[in-house]
Amino acid sequence: MRIIDQLAVLQAIDSELDVARRRYAEIQTELREPESLKQARVARDKAAAYVSEWRKIRQTREAAVVEQRQRIREQEKILYGGRIKDPREQIALQNNVEALKRHLSKLEDEVLEAMLALEEGEDALKTAEAALTKEENAWMEKKSALERERQDLIGRARMLKGRRDAEAAKLSDNVLQQYETLRKRHSGLAVAKIRHAHCGGCGASLPTATVQRAHGDELIPCPVCGRWLHG
Ligand SMILES: [Zn+2]
Repeated sequence: MRIIDQLAVLQAIDSELDVARRRYAEIQTELREPESLKQARVARDKAAAYVSEWRKIRQTREAAVVEQRQRIREQEKILYGGRIKDPREQIALQNNVEALKRHLSKLEDEVLEAMLALEEGEDALKTAEAALTKEENAWMEKKSALERERQDLIGRARMLKGRRDAEAAKLSDNVLQQYETLRKRHSGLAVAKIRHAHCGGCGASLPTATVQRAHGDELIPCPVCGRWLHG
């Protein structure tokens, strides 16, 4: 086998390894929790905080209503108990009970307001929880697919690395070093296939003599990009 043929085999393996490495890096990025999931969690927490706040408010307001009713009962007991004989005092007490009742009505409105806010909040929480579950399920599914792909890539890269080492062992250190330099210079592609008298790396049209020499045993570089031509 000519050196250029061996180099072409090595190049094919290295190109596959490059693809695997790039995909691996992509997967690492894709494995970060998506923004939409974080947002869904924030929205759920906010909705839950709203519900718990209004639950407390409703409780406090209901307690205020109970207290107010108790106060009215006590005042009415005095008013109708027959112990107060002074009409002015009676009127004053009557007015006081009326005022307490007006305030009770206001307190009851506030309870109703809290109940409505709570109901609204509970609906919003349900919606937010459903959205979060949907996001979580989608993410779990995507994550496990990515994990599987990552494991496959690790296995594949290990296999390719083994083949690469075996191929590299067939080449001299000097040629290997030049190959690595060319790969670094030309975004991973050191060996370019000749396609219809054109360089497969840079696309330059090649002189007939160059094409002919590339079919021989020597390593012939592309006169334009410098990659080794595989004829
Ligand atoms: Zn070229």
